Amino acid sequence: MAKTHILGYPRIGAQRELKRAQEAYWKGEIDQQALLAAGSQVRSQNWRAQQAAGLALTTVGDFAWYDQVLNHSLMFGVIPERFTEGAADNKLDQYFRLARGRAPSGEPVAANAMTKWFDTNYHYLVPEFTADQVFNLDAEWLLAEVKEAQSLGHNAKPVVIGPLTYLWLGRGVDDALGLLPKLLSCYTQLLEQLAGAAAQWVQIDEPILGLDLPPEWREAFAPAYHTLAKASGSKLLLASYFSPLRENLPLAFSLPVEGVHIDAVRAPEEVALAAAALCDDQLLSVGVVNGRNVWKTDLARWQQELAPLAEKLGDRLWLSASCSLLHSPVDLATETKLAEVEKQKLAYSRQKLDELNTLQQALNPGAAILPAIGKTESRSEAEVRAELDNTWRTLKYPERAKVQQERWQLPLLPTTTIGSFPQTDVLRQVRKQFRNQEISAQDYDAHLRAEIAEAIRRQEILGLDVLVHGEAERNDMVEYFGEQLDGFIHTGNGWVQSYGSRCVKPPIIAGDISRPNPMTVQWSEYAQSLSKKPVKGMLTGPVTILNWSFPREDVPRAVSCQQIARALREEVLDLEAAGIGIIQIDEPALREGVPLRVSGHNDYFAWAVGCFRYTCSEVKAETQIHTHMCYSNFNSIMDAIVALDADVITIESARSDLRLLQAFSEGERAGEQGGYPNEIGPGIYDIHSPNVPERAELVARTRELLEVIPKEKLWINPDCGLKTRNWAEVGAALLNMVEAARTVRAETSR
Ligand code: GLN
Ligand code: ZN
Repeated sequence: MAKTHILGYPRIGAQRELKRAQEAYWKGEIDQQALLAAGSQVRSQNWRAQQAAGLALTTVGDFAWYDQVLNHSLMFGVIPERFTEGAADNKLDQYFRLARGRAPSGEPVAANAMTKWFDTNYHYLVPEFTADQVFNLDAEWLLAEVKEAQSLGHNAKPVVIGPLTYLWLGRGVDDALGLLPKLLSCYTQLLEQLAGAAAQWVQIDEPILGLDLPPEWREAFAPAYHTLAKASGSKLLLASYFSPLRENLPLAFSLPVEGVHIDAVRAPEEVALAAAALCDDQLLSVGVVNGRNVWKTDLARWQQELAPLAEKLGDRLWLSASCSLLHSPVDLATETKLAEVEKQKLAYSRQKLDELNTLQQALNPGAAILPAIGKTESRSEAEVRAELDNTWRTLKYPERAKVQQERWQLPLLPTTTIGSFPQTDVLRQVRKQFRNQEISAQDYDAHLRAEIAEAIRRQEILGLDVLVHGEAERNDMVEYFGEQLDGFIHTGNGWVQSYGSRCVKPPIIAGDISRPNPMTVQWSEYAQSLSKKPVKGMLTGPVTILNWSFPREDVPRAVSCQQIARALREEVLDLEAAGIGIIQIDEPALREGVPLRVSGHNDYFAWAVGCFRYTCSEVKAETQIHTHMCYSNFNSIMDAIVALDADVITIESARSDLRLLQAFSEGERAGEQGGYPNEIGPGIYDIHSPNVPERAELVARTRELLEVIPKEKLWINPDCGLKTRNWAEVGAALLNMVEAARTVRAETSR
């Protein structure tokens, strides 16, 4: 009979208990004892849930006080020099110093960098290596958790990140692979200690097996795993997820491990290949329940597909979720906001455990056939592509630029901001009162108008050239649109960890998307009525809305994206008709959707870029389209960014050096020769810091920018939206920015 297990469970707690405890501890409201108790509570609940659902093994080691990669850095002693000075007086505080640069004890220090975990919206802390890196094993926490689980009666299966993936994720050395021999001795000790703790199985995650690996990385697997296998007294389950194994599939199964897990959601075609590659003494774990989404699994399909395999492999077939459930919300039973008919279609982590159990039963000989999940009718992807490819603005950028300049008469180095202004406590308060129906829609409206008027007044005084309305009406740049579009549903408790104690609650795309009413027009129109200067309309782009939502599983993502694009296109045209002549369509998540395998890039960019263009392909030449993106590595997606053909792009670059800009300025900016052919506003100061940039600093920065970007094409702006700052900081920083632009403008002629 097939067995069941999972690769990991969310650690935030069903009511985000861990988040609350972490934040209370950081603020000094509770002591470490209380925090430790909250963590142990979450762990035991998670373990009990797995046991209650009849899972054969209970996964341990997926818990983290901040991040699982950081757990490993601490376990291997990968602690950069700067943390030894002013060290905290206990291990947990030292861990928080690495994670966030500060903790209740110890001196403040620059934290480890954070970046996205593969193609998810989860952020991990990047290991910082040095050329003479020393690794020292300290597995105290992990061993204690294994014992804790065992003492509660669980058959604990510890999970660790594999040595190659761990090295791959780090930075600081050119040859991370060169550190492997030293690191392996930590792993062999670790495996000995886990076997000593009576762990029958150890799960080793090597998700990089789903990437296009350089040959030397592929070749490093076999020797490394032979070393590990020799040391291990436990059986090893090698797990890969998020992406097909493809050319690495034979490699994965040839390693001396007792089991291999594959992601059958991302690569259903690999189930048969994996079964064929499986050795007689290996087991196969198939991840059929989607760990990245909220929809119920089509168990009937898997019952049918896996039946022959279940018969052949018996208990050598393990059923699992595709990846750790870290990326799914915790428990549908805690949902208060969703209607019963909606809940019927969904499964959060807790329910996914039950799905595994149901499938296990259904694979028993003689089990009844499971009911099929109804399929929806939707347009085909081919139809979508045809529509996207159809049109583009009639004039090319150089001609559009002329018409736009005639219309706006903007000075050289025009100044603007990215969209949002401070979300003040008062504003949050009022929003909450409105949600709780404590104030009327009219009162709420009046308050938002007052906020907008105030934002316009301040910008006029500051002397900015292109104004924004400030986004006071938006709680979140995706949720705001999701709430107004048909086809989305919104959960009350569908939280997923984003990083540390931060969680996000993505909307769910539940059907075909359409726009019943204009979404932003009244606010933009009102803001524009208050000023003679142009006020930018402000929209979140289709790719970002898609990538920050839970997608449908019954239609390709491109189909939903195009539906969102059509809704935004209607909005864009309504804005234009209402006299809004500059419209910004933000795409900060364009890069997030890029497939992990290079072979998928062209296809993704074709529809993602197509959808963006579709939102604005019908606007007049004199309407200026802006876009905004905030990350700092554009090199790999430069072609796509050029293809968006926005008249102006603003990007986050304040924190990176000018090398980033080389991507935008290379060649003679002819597009084909590389570089960005249209106008560009590289953020000139970092909004993530409360520090007010000095005027002289901004002048110098602007002069530097002029060395790589022609003066006609350079915009002056902060590097992202200002909603997380307060007005005092924003006012002072923008004043310096406007003054700096004036200074440099005076020494530059047209
Ligand atoms: N217009 C948005 C804002 O200013 C952009 C946010 C973002 O880039 N993530 O808040
Ligand atoms: Zn941004």
